[in-house]
Amino acid sequence: MMKKKQSVCGLDKHSRAFLKIQDGCNSFCSYCIVPYVRNVLWSKPEKEVISEIINLVENGYSEIVLTGIHVGKYEEGLSSLIRKIIQICLDFRIRISSIELNEIDNDLIKLMNENPDKICRHLHIPLQSGSQEILKQMNRKYTAKNFEEKITQIFKELPDLCLTTDIITGFPGETDVNHKETCEFVKKLPFAGFHIFSYSDRQGTKACELKNKVPAIEINNRSKDLFKIDLDKKRKFLNRNLGTKRKAVKIGLDKALTDNYITVKRCVSKNSGIFEIEVISPQISE
Ligand code: SF4
Repeated sequence: MMKKKQSVCGLDKHSRAFLKIQDGCNSFCSYCIVPYVRNVLWSKPEKEVISEIINLVENGYSEIVLTGIHVGKYEEGLSSLIRKIIQICLDFRIRISSIELNEIDNDLIKLMNENPDKICRHLHIPLQSGSQEILKQMNRKYTAKNFEEKITQIFKELPDLCLTTDIITGFPGETDVNHKETCEFVKKLPFAGFHIFSYSDRQGTKACELKNKVPAIEINNRSKDLFKIDLDKKRKFLNRNLGTKRKAVKIGLDKALTDNYITVKRCVSKNSGIFEIEVISPQISE
């Protein structure tokens, strides 16, 4: 039984807790309804984050996933918060659920580099499109060039990082050429896999007002192209990691999740907490 009431937004019954540290977004990506319904930014005070983590770890959780709509907008600075979290003298690690490209600063990369046992080697950075024209229409706050440069810089520091992303296919006005640009872009970047979302209208957003909608059948075909690339990326990432030793936590009776987001099946370890495991029978986590 938990010792104290938690404001966690999810629990894995064995080892992982999802701790909400932030809410709200005012970035107004043109396809997204969130800023219209949750535009007040809220951050959980540092002291509460720290005490909730201590309580979760004391209750047996080994991995704390920091979540939010837009965690990079954490009021007191995400890197500053993480710096304090990793000073807690208990056996646990943290994972950042998802973070926008522009909110990954040098300090965060340095922290990840210097604390591999405390901060999971995994970043989920939403890309959405590899076409500069479409990124602009989406009102995303980076260019394709910025994205590539930043990822190259991150991989220089963290070569064994698991990088995952989100892609929206069939955004209004997306041409075949734009789609091919996205395919080529994701092929050349070191993604370990991605989530593919078919564009659909959200009433009240700017994108919903756009006239040049992509037909459903075309969206479906483009999604299939991306699924093939995703599968190839996942296979390559898993093959690269096969036989390596990583730090993991149990997720379920016979599976473990590594720091670099690989699910290792048939894990017979009786260990609790964080333990070393050889990557065999792997699958990329969903
Ligand atoms: S997609 Fe993300 S960053 Fe963009 S407006 Fe929605 S919540 Fe904010």
